[in-house]
Amino acid sequence: MLCMKTRHSSVKRIYEAPLLGARYCGDSSTRVVHDLDNASPECRIDQILAAGRAIPFHSTMVAHLQGYRNCPQCVGR
Ligand SMILES: [Zn+2]
Repeated sequence: MLCMKTRHSSVKRIYEAPLLGARYCGDSSTRVVHDLDNASPECRIDQILAAGRAIPFHSTMVAHLQGYRNCPQCVGR
């Protein structure tokens, strides 16, 4: 069992398609954008990926321009 605590959650950037290391992951179904460097388990990034709804973004500004809103858990206001 690992005792080491990481500053961030267990969610890490994903370097495979479709995210390819992008910091932000949009959910094309809910139109919410998550920060993978700060994502919490409630963000369900794994489910977004499994459902094929993950859209990579390199900034929240780009996501907002496409109609996404911030995840309150990991991006904030
Ligand atoms: Zn989130």
